[in-house]
Amino acid sequence: MAGSEAPVSRLAPSPTGVLHLGNARTFLLNWLWVRSVGGRLLLRIEDIDGPRVKVGAEEALLEDLHWLGLDWDGVPVRQSERLGTYSTVVDGLLARGLAYPCTCTRKEVEEAASAPHESWQDATPYPGTCRDRFCDLAHARAETGREPAVRFRVDVDAVAYDDLFRGADPGRIGGDFVIEKRDRGPAYQLAVVVDDAAQGVDLVVRGDDLVTSTPRQLLLYRALGLTAPRFAHLPLLVGPDGKRLAKRHGDTSLKAYREAGTTPEKIVGYLAAVSGLGEPGGRLRPTDLLDSFALARIPREPVVTSGSLR
Ligand code: GLU
Repeated sequence: MAGSEAPVSRLAPSPTGVLHLGNARTFLLNWLWVRSVGGRLLLRIEDIDGPRVKVGAEEALLEDLHWLGLDWDGVPVRQSERLGTYSTVVDGLLARGLAYPCTCTRKEVEEAASAPHESWQDATPYPGTCRDRFCDLAHARAETGREPAVRFRVDVDAVAYDDLFRGADPGRIGGDFVIEKRDRGPAYQLAVVVDDAAQGVDLVVRGDDLVTSTPRQLLLYRALGLTAPRFAHLPLLVGPDGKRLAKRHGDTSLKAYREAGTTPEKIVGYLAAVSGLGEPGGRLRPTDLLDSFALARIPREPVVTSGSLR
């Protein structure tokens, strides 16, 4: 995002579930940020997570976003329609020796990792078992009788970056990571980089559950000769137990609120209040908040909610 130019950002929901209070808040704040400075907001449906994608979830997501009062520019892009592009990019990285076939199972990775992994990581660090082991995918198949995944080679411990919301981040990385799964579908890390670059996205606003992904994505931008966007990771909504808002905290899906007769204005008013942008009890449309939006007003800490909108 160059200086004062209006940003290009995106909402990137996965149709693996419904829109709930937590992701609605991140989307609302992303929308407010972009719309308050006259930027463009794109919509990308991240529907490549095979078994987790639910029939009808995309339609439900779009309906919920509209109901809440959020819009986007242009037509939605679907990752499932771009599989050929991802695989070309992976082939290029393999050909350049920047990635390699890996036949390790998750269990093997866990067993091979000597020390218990640190809590900042979302996966066990890869011990490097398949590095320099196979010439190519066919060789890996022939040697092991398994269908290989593809891992990206990481030769650094960290890629530090400045988060627009959180400030300086050391950007630690837990070793070589998967960019193509054994079903030949792209891993999230690869698809998101390829798509953000292709769509000209220069501002990524998302939940801080994805903080550990960002340094990996920055390495992919470098390897692919692409300009990385700027990132802002916002704290998540958490339940009264301090854990990320989830089903066990009760049904906070927008659908459930709608069916119980709650208005979108009440939900937006609540989300604004817990985001430092409005008084408790407000009844608001997203457009009512355009003047009051400021990143600095958003609390740094995770917001605790019981889901009762009070
Ligand atoms: N599709 C991802 C999710 O729903 C978001 C990816 C991103 O914003 O980079 O968690």
